[in-house]
Amino acid sequence: MSKEQHCGNNALKEAGDGSLLNDKLHSYIEELIPGREPLFIEMEKYALENKVPIMELVGIEALLQLLRIQNSSKILEVGTAIGYSALRMAEALPNASIVTIERDIDRIQAAEEYIVRSKHGKQVILIKGDALEVEELVGEQAPYDTIFVDAAKGQYQKFFEMYSKYLSIDGIIITDNVLFKGLVTQSEIESKRIRNLVRKIDNFNQWLMNHPDYHTVILPVGDGIAISKKKR
Ligand code: SAH
Ligand code: MG
Repeated sequence: MSKEQHCGNNALKEAGDGSLLNDKLHSYIEELIPGREPLFIEMEKYALENKVPIMELVGIEALLQLLRIQNSSKILEVGTAIGYSALRMAEALPNASIVTIERDIDRIQAAEEYIVRSKHGKQVILIKGDALEVEELVGEQAPYDTIFVDAAKGQYQKFFEMYSKYLSIDGIIITDNVLFKGLVTQSEIESKRIRNLVRKIDNFNQWLMNHPDYHTVILPVGDGIAISKKKR
């Protein structure tokens, strides 16, 4: 389940693995992004080679900017993978601490190595285990200014329901991959597994957009991010 990106599905291939923007516009924006620390470049390369679905460049820049505007000091991330987004958040917000959850053994190991090597690693607390089973540990560090959900897409509503209670009063919840490479708009998808996943994401989006306690906007950046702000 964790290696959701390479399912060999035709619809996925047709949708491409870049961005929801047209290719030229996407490359244009990407090329404007300044350089990054060598360790981040190394992680991007590792992710590409090992098919780890880290956030793509334009998407993560949008996420980091939201966090800067919000001036978040405590962040919960569901889905560490190799620690790329966690360490980039740590760099962007030097006073913030990031609690991040991962269940895949190999990725935990890679994340631990990168966290030790990074000069921002001290800001990151890695919780090892399934996000649906570590609520107590997560709760100990609450409240969180930002909750970033970037894990198994079929479980988004469960993550949201479990962790939204640990949000600070002005907090926001950001959910990644809500447009799933544009597949949410496709009705003819060959693979049953992908079709089911698309249906779950669509159900989640409908549920979230109509949630009485939150204002939510979906932006077509990266793989689609939903930004939810608690109503006051
Ligand atoms: N946020 C990362 C990418 C995360 S990819 C980045 O941008 O750098 C999604 C990760 O979520 C995968 O590594 C997968 O193993 C993990 N994951 C999926 N479901 C999970 C769950 N229920 N609990 C913990 N981790 C989960
Ligand atoms: Mg993602």
